[in-house]
Amino acid sequence: MEGNSTDTYTGNRGLRLEEPLIFEQDAPGRSGVDLPEPPPVQSRLGGLDRPDAIGLPGLSEPQVVRHYTRLSQKNYAIDAGFYPLGSCTMKHNPRLNEKMARLPGFADLHPLQPEATVQGALRLIDTLAHWIKTLTGMPAVAMSPAAGAHGELCGLMTARTALEARGDGRKRVLVPDSAHGTNPATAAICGYAVEAIPLNDRGRVDLNALKDALDEDVAAFMLTNPNTCGLFEDEILEQAQAVHDAGAFFYCDGANFNAIVGRVRPGDLGIDCMHLNLHKTFSTPHGGGGPGSGPVVLSEALADYAPRPWVVHGEDGFSLVEHEDEAAQAAPYGRMKAFHGQMGMFVRALAYMMSHGSDGLRQASSDAVLNANYLLASLSKELSLAYDGPCMHEVLFDDGFLKGTDVTTLDFAKAMIDEGFHPMTMYFPLVVHGALLMEPTETESRESLDQFIETMRHLAKRAKDGDAQAFHDAPVHTPRRRLDETAAARRPILRWRPDPVQGEAAE
Ligand SMILES: *Cc1c(COP(=O)(O)O)cnc(C)c1O
Repeated sequence: MEGNSTDTYTGNRGLRLEEPLIFEQDAPGRSGVDLPEPPPVQSRLGGLDRPDAIGLPGLSEPQVVRHYTRLSQKNYAIDAGFYPLGSCTMKHNPRLNEKMARLPGFADLHPLQPEATVQGALRLIDTLAHWIKTLTGMPAVAMSPAAGAHGELCGLMTARTALEARGDGRKRVLVPDSAHGTNPATAAICGYAVEAIPLNDRGRVDLNALKDALDEDVAAFMLTNPNTCGLFEDEILEQAQAVHDAGAFFYCDGANFNAIVGRVRPGDLGIDCMHLNLHKTFSTPHGGGGPGSGPVVLSEALADYAPRPWVVHGEDGFSLVEHEDEAAQAAPYGRMKAFHGQMGMFVRALAYMMSHGSDGLRQASSDAVLNANYLLASLSKELSLAYDGPCMHEVLFDDGFLKGTDVTTLDFAKAMIDEGFHPMTMYFPLVVHGALLMEPTETESRESLDQFIETMRHLAKRAKDGDAQAFHDAPVHTPRRRLDETAAARRPILRWRPDPVQGEAAE
């Protein structure tokens, strides 16, 4: 691995310490706890008992504490600094949410507890569903999907079920060129052929191309609004009309709902189903693969085809509709996951909504848009805007400003790391060359935005001044420098093996 060396004797850099794998610190027999010898038991495993120890490393308690503390210090997080990743809404997560989610009455529930003992939890799900329906202007919501992509799957399965119920076997799903990869992947998993719809020169869906592609074979059109170029799809009413005239359903990817909460109700735009990423818009710590929660709101046309379970409120309090014979549903397809959804995230989302109130949510989306436009206005001279503004909650630049400098978007991002910034989203959306997609969110102060802006200006000037080598060398101040990202993706070594000489880990 290149660039791993330092000129210190220990390999440490000041107080940033090198940290071996926990297995590499193993001292056999060392332990942080003293357990009594277990009494002899008669094995009932029929000879399948494990013959050896399972290979846990031996460390003392202070070694374990240091190991995980050092690892945590290598992690860049929203709590450590500005995190302008676009298309992901990495915003501050109020501590109040965490406190609520840790209340033992929520945190210690078991999903198989009798309903009579979880009335508060069911009421919370019901109240959150009410807020979600109110904010989106939609009559129904499926709460259980476990993330945005899972919500997309739920939405398309619901649409497919509704189509099948009317004997309609449509085969195609239309997805704009700028869509998040999960959109075409979802359509493909549902068995549909995916057809890309191009953007116009304003960064929005080309309405004529959409109309040309729509026919009686199209099951759904999947739009993202605001779209992944950070722009509001201002012809959405015409799109909805065209989609419905063709007898198709209108799916909206609601990952960017943070930009419009309290200002626009998707239900008023002609949308049939839309997932919300509670972990983006309604603040749960996320990233690195979890956790997520992706409730899906449904229009009148799809409400009857929602997956189970859902909460109902009767004379005896709240209960869950879980079984086929409990509801007169047209053509149910069952459920999306084993239990009722991501309870901890429901608690966080409701705490966020209730502590902000409707005026506070509206203010948050306005501030998110304001902050992104502040970046747009401050940087459009030094960087190159992909499409004319104003933008919504994120601003999209292309690599035009790096032309002739021999510095790529990737080099530029690595230099940002040396300056102490997590890079923005790069090379997405794919339709924009060398894309740099920045989403500051509503919770960044004017001071932190100004510092970011000045840093971007400085780096852009440095690139234009011909200092390409410094960019190729970056990052120089990180624990590791440039990794072989292709090898890491293609040949990941996910398992430590005791003997690297003979084992595959030797790679
Ligand atoms: C994040 C995102 C998704 C996927 O959501 P997950 O919760 O990560 O599954 C889909 N579409 C867009 C536009 C997104 O930003």
